[in-house]
Amino acid sequence: MEAFTHLFVCSFFFSLLRTSISQDSTITPNQSIRDGGTLVSADGSFQLGFFSPGNSKTRYVGIWYMISSETVVWVANRNAPLNDQSGVLKVTDDGFLVLLNSTNSIVWSSNTSRTAENPVAQLLDTGNLVVKDRIDDDPEKFLWQSFDYPCDTLLPKMKLGWNLVTGLDRFVSSWKSTEDPAQGEYSMRIDPRGLPQVVLMKRDSILARLGSWNGLHFTGYSGLRQNPIYNYEFVLNEKEVYFEYKLPDTSVFVRSMVNPSGVPQRFIWMDRTHSWEPIITAQLDQCAIYAFCGSYASCDINNSPVCSCLEGFLSKSPKDGDPVDRSDGCVRMTPLECNDRHKFLKRTGVKLPDTSSSWYNKSMTLEECEGICLKNCSCTAYASLDVRGGGSGCVLWFGRLVDISELAEGGQDLYIRMAISEPGRPEKKRHFSKKKLVAIIVGSTLLVVGMTIVGLVSYIWKKKLKNQEMTKRSQMKDNNNESEKEDMELPIFDMVAIANATDNFSNNNKLGEGGFGPVYKGILPEGRNIAVKRLSKNSGQGLNEFKNEVNLIAKLQHRNLVKLLGSCIQENENMLIYEYMPNKSLDSFIFDKAKSKLLDWHKRINIIRGVAKGLLYLHEDSRLKIIHRDLKASNILLDNNMNPKISDFGLARSFEEDQIDSKTNRIIGTYGYMSPEYAAHGQYSIKSDVFSFGVLALEIVSGKKNRGFCHSDHHLSLTGHAWKLWIEDRPMELIEDNLVADLCTLSNVLRHIHVGLLCVQQRPKNRPNMSSVVQMLSNESLLPKPKQPGFFTDSLEADSSSTKHGTCSANEITITLLEAR
Ligand code: AMP
Repeated sequence: MEAFTHLFVCSFFFSLLRTSISQDSTITPNQSIRDGGTLVSADGSFQLGFFSPGNSKTRYVGIWYMISSETVVWVANRNAPLNDQSGVLKVTDDGFLVLLNSTNSIVWSSNTSRTAENPVAQLLDTGNLVVKDRIDDDPEKFLWQSFDYPCDTLLPKMKLGWNLVTGLDRFVSSWKSTEDPAQGEYSMRIDPRGLPQVVLMKRDSILARLGSWNGLHFTGYSGLRQNPIYNYEFVLNEKEVYFEYKLPDTSVFVRSMVNPSGVPQRFIWMDRTHSWEPIITAQLDQCAIYAFCGSYASCDINNSPVCSCLEGFLSKSPKDGDPVDRSDGCVRMTPLECNDRHKFLKRTGVKLPDTSSSWYNKSMTLEECEGICLKNCSCTAYASLDVRGGGSGCVLWFGRLVDISELAEGGQDLYIRMAISEPGRPEKKRHFSKKKLVAIIVGSTLLVVGMTIVGLVSYIWKKKLKNQEMTKRSQMKDNNNESEKEDMELPIFDMVAIANATDNFSNNNKLGEGGFGPVYKGILPEGRNIAVKRLSKNSGQGLNEFKNEVNLIAKLQHRNLVKLLGSCIQENENMLIYEYMPNKSLDSFIFDKAKSKLLDWHKRINIIRGVAKGLLYLHEDSRLKIIHRDLKASNILLDNNMNPKISDFGLARSFEEDQIDSKTNRIIGTYGYMSPEYAAHGQYSIKSDVFSFGVLALEIVSGKKNRGFCHSDHHLSLTGHAWKLWIEDRPMELIEDNLVADLCTLSNVLRHIHVGLLCVQQRPKNRPNMSSVVQMLSNESLLPKPKQPGFFTDSLEADSSSTKHGTCSANEITITLLEAR
């Protein structure tokens, strides 16, 4: 928020500055610029003149920001410095821009293949120095422009890439050092071979690969995505291939560059500190290094060692402790013979391999893509070209697959060709043709009918042979035992062992207390940390709820759900044993002044997204469809890396898939997170969880509790306050004060507020389901306008608790209510 305030101040300052600029932005053939003279763009953003970088004495002609004269974005004579201050910059009669030295020799010149009647050089507001015909402002007709010859900086509206007709390659190249703008070793450019991709080069070799454009971002870097502050464009046609970014708000100054050490960075100008703040600095870790693991291997920076062979491949020459020989990479366990039958193994969430020897087609479907790959023996893999809207287009790889890595976010699906005899998980989702599908359906129906008939015949036969009654009875008994066994598949812990592990449930080991009793930390004899939830004898949770929780959680597995390790039912004690979460619950961070500082935006966004994915799993993807019914900050636990895990399924309830809405005669949950229809009428559905999720998202962004929220100007709840700010176009003010978001993150945070507001809408049918929420949070699609939230005011809070408006002294303990209705 602070960042934004300063941007507004910054833009106001520049509009003042701009109106007062009266210096020339152009030179004509009878004018010249001597050392000391300058050109200034019409809006006062950029200046052109002579300069010496750092402590060097040599002179260069360059363009810099008016706000920051030491930030040079372009240098004319970067490889031909002047030794003194006698340089003169001129435009010749036939439209060349020339730099002359003391002997009137040309040390640098622009080029042009056309002539102009009235040539003029002009420094444009974008920082582009152009030579054009005085009366012709059509960029297509410029005789020459500095934007075609970038130095170390990519400015907004500058194209990075190729004019495939003329062969012009626009690329960014580092300075040799901070005092020498001569072309250095590193460059960022588009490799036009195969499916074009952005690469970072060191001299003539690829150092790192951002990858090709997949419609949303580069395949190897999801950080560059459309958002309200930047517009990205990747153009790929017969005439040109280029990448460009634009800033709709021209008062914001952003520049991207490759520094002399070869690190790509992006900066934004902060007027508050009068300095450039880095907003993106490329992480050149091992996995970013081009082909670090060799061919047919994948790099995972979170693993040690980082390299591993793809499934079905073996290291050529494994070395001690390292499963992959990085220089050789991996080879197939089963070689591919052209006349063999082949299949594809699906690898998800990866940075697609080097596309320089790939082939692509924009209009094919994935099914057609697979068909073409199968037909060509040298095709080794295929993938979608564009991931938007479920995926479209086709990329085919021929030959080695190199530079694959695992991505935490934004990775893609890659289908790798394997011999059919190769053991391994086949591609899950097959692309069946309609004919095949009909054949499969008919085939399986016949099979089922056949099996039923066989079953019936054998049943009748058995019936004749055995005593009916006896058989039935013993079968029933067996079945009951079987289902009990299934319920109790989880390890059963011994009461004494748990008492020992928790130091006899000592207060020192107590982690917290939920609605159903205290939770203790324990250490098992083998050293494993556990959390023991001990059901209070006087809690509302009876044996049924307890078993419900055990049965449900035991069957659920997802990285965003807390893992149940076992249970203990003994001596009137019911206990659940969970994996221990060292960072405890989310509420202890977001609502704590000191600890909240440990959660930066990236962690908060990761938490919101993780919770959304966990909830989506519960609602749609798990074997049982679950409504949590008590989603709240204290039920989100955090692991070592602050990844969120949803806990406390004691109140969850299995529901049938077609059951949209259910009525309950008990209100269970926590005020502040409860949807209006649930609190008022006992109606719950997956949309009640969506409401709670929305509240949680707004709490995470604001660092404020919904329940007992207090504001000096009004009596609204946090959701009401967020809504008020939203309709008044001030959503940034919701963001927690002590968090400074860079512009890039800011747009993302605003998106999370937007999604939060969609989730807390009054009417359940207006709220998105969790699969839409997950999508909305992870892409840049346009979001619908939110309508007024439920519990806009805090009236229910006031009725149901000791909270009183105006006093701001709400009892902060959220109580899980168990009320008879
Ligand atoms: P609950 O009864 O599940 O709401 O848990 C009450 C409190 O105990 C939580 O807010 C956490 O602070 C703590 N807690 C619960 N489960 C765990 C766990 N698995 N690891 C660490 N702390 C936990």
